[in-house]
Amino acid sequence: MILPREKTLSEDQLKEVTDIVESFNCSLQTIIGTERSIYAILGDETSETMVNRLEGLAYIDRVDRIQNQNKLMHRSSELSRHKIRIGGVTLGEELLVIAGQCTVDPKNPNLFIETAHAVKEAGAKVLRGGVWKPRTTPHSFQGDNRSIETVLEARAQTGLPVNIEVMDEDQLAIAMDAKVDMVQIGTRNALNYSLLKKIGKATKDNGTLVLLKRSLHMGKPSEFISAAEYIVAGGNPNVLLCPRGTAPGLDGYRNHPDESITPLLKEQTWAPVVVDPSHSVGRAIYVPFCAAAAIAYGADGVCIESHIRPQEGIGDDPKQSLTPDVLKDLIVELGSLWSLKNKFHRA
Ligand code: PEP
Ligand code: MN
Repeated sequence: MILPREKTLSEDQLKEVTDIVESFNCSLQTIIGTERSIYAILGDETSETMVNRLEGLAYIDRVDRIQNQNKLMHRSSELSRHKIRIGGVTLGEELLVIAGQCTVDPKNPNLFIETAHAVKEAGAKVLRGGVWKPRTTPHSFQGDNRSIETVLEARAQTGLPVNIEVMDEDQLAIAMDAKVDMVQIGTRNALNYSLLKKIGKATKDNGTLVLLKRSLHMGKPSEFISAAEYIVAGGNPNVLLCPRGTAPGLDGYRNHPDESITPLLKEQTWAPVVVDPSHSVGRAIYVPFCAAAAIAYGADGVCIESHIRPQEGIGDDPKQSLTPDVLKDLIVELGSLWSLKNKFHRA
């Protein structure tokens, strides 16, 4: 990782640095951070000669070589100074609540608009809504391109930034055209490295946040972090790690709750952790407990499915969505747990 003396390199400086790095069979990736731009060396950066030549340039402060497979995500990386902001919240400083329907029903767009206003009133700072859905069977509802208009209308009316899941390049292109504020990589694509690379590239210059869910199998924290490393290596440091339950194993819960992974992720990375309790336990009655546990474990936020009238919803909503009044009470309680997090966890 190359750190310039000034906030960014000039065009000529960038060219000189790129030439050096490429002559050692590496490539250079600019990552625009809030403090300053960082220039990641992608490839084998062990050559002393390369480092000496780079550090010999008057405009270079230093070259940091972190000996870790997730060197960009690592706590000791310069990116730990990077601040991620959305909906008026600076991650890590205040609780972030993302809420909204699992699925936008194209036959009933007004329901989503009503939900959007209600979750805003409840205290959510980002609105979620599934336009395209990853479904286990091809016979289930797969989503509808038209719903993106509904999501944008809800953003216009409420002023809330929006999060939608993308599963392929076509959906990514539509989401980028629509200038969505956050894209979600769902659990099924959590290890789709080719898509992760494309998302890093597509979002590198436009400030889009990426909510990366943890994959469904019980992979190690380092595997999850490596998936995020792909997005950052593509040029976008605005990544949020989202545990959402792993393989089902407990009768009664949809998946195996994994909010307890949060301190491990925080020990190894600088990235904010935003837990999804809805897909983890999978039933509205259990969601508040899982959300509270997430904050107690030190999470920076939660992503909760909420619907104005869950029984009229499609997708996961009838089972696991909270009504906005329950969401509102929960957000107040999570606010009190936030001080617990500050007391026992490293920022
Ligand atoms: C969702 O958020 O609605 C969703 C399908 O998430 P996951 O990928 O965690 O199942
Ligand atoms: Mn869902």
